[in-house]
Amino acid sequence: MATLEIHDLHVSVEVENGTKEILSGVDLTVKQGETHAIMGPNGSGKSTLAYSLAGHPKYTVTGGTVTLDGENVLEMSVDERARAGLFLAMQYPVEVPGVSVSNFLRTSATAIRGEAPKLRTWVKEVKGAMERLNMDPAFAERNVNEGFSGGEKKRHEILQLELLKPKVAILDETDSGLDVDALRTVSEGVNRVRETGETGTLLITHYTRILRYITPDHVHVFARGRIAESGGPELADKLEAEGYEAYTKEA
Ligand code: ADP
Ligand code: MG
Ligand code: MG
Repeated sequence: MATLEIHDLHVSVEVENGTKEILSGVDLTVKQGETHAIMGPNGSGKSTLAYSLAGHPKYTVTGGTVTLDGENVLEMSVDERARAGLFLAMQYPVEVPGVSVSNFLRTSATAIRGEAPKLRTWVKEVKGAMERLNMDPAFAERNVNEGFSGGEKKRHEILQLELLKPKVAILDETDSGLDVDALRTVSEGVNRVRETGETGTLLITHYTRILRYITPDHVHVFARGRIAESGGPELADKLEAEGYEAYTKEA
């Protein structure tokens, strides 16, 4: 059973007048098959956690550990993290000019599986996954993220998730900017991946809306750079009713 373990993670960024600590001791364990929601106010450091796990060069880890099955994730390059089974869907995905969705997916799958998927079965796999996500087949020939609408970006993320079958997936605000239909389609995709039992999911979100479609096993409140409280799905109901105010006050 694959396990992502984050222990006492501290992360800083360079700012004009020095460095600023954004993550101040994050502790979290995500096992294959589990779904965790991280919820918190804007600016609490949720995206910073996602970027740090992705190995974004702007974010400097100043303390703590991150391991996947005991392997030190923090020492891995971005590519190595993906090959080790970490999948990160970013809140602001980048454009990849000149690379089609179809090529991008096949290259990623080849890197992660260690061999190129057989073309015949691969084409079928992609077609099936796109149909399930209500995606136009022509989408496969478009350049990655170039001119994608918000909904298309999110569907593309879930398409990657379904095809790449990571051990642990980190989805940062996959729900933001989606209309109700897109939200349902994207949530169904996440639930399909979940049902395989092969992927642990860390669903980072500001809103409780997506949790009407995806019931997490664990809910964590993120505030001021760390997890302030953890609980079951009922914690999301409490947040919906009471908001984050109780967590954002200075200690
Ligand atoms: P969230 O995703 O919870 O809204 P972020 O991780 O995006 O929060 O941001 C947390 C805090 O860190 C904010 O105050 C933000 O301005 C700051 N921050 C994030 N990234 C950077 C950066 N690259 N440079 C400077 N400040 C940053
Ligand atoms: Mg934000
Ligand atoms: Mg964010």
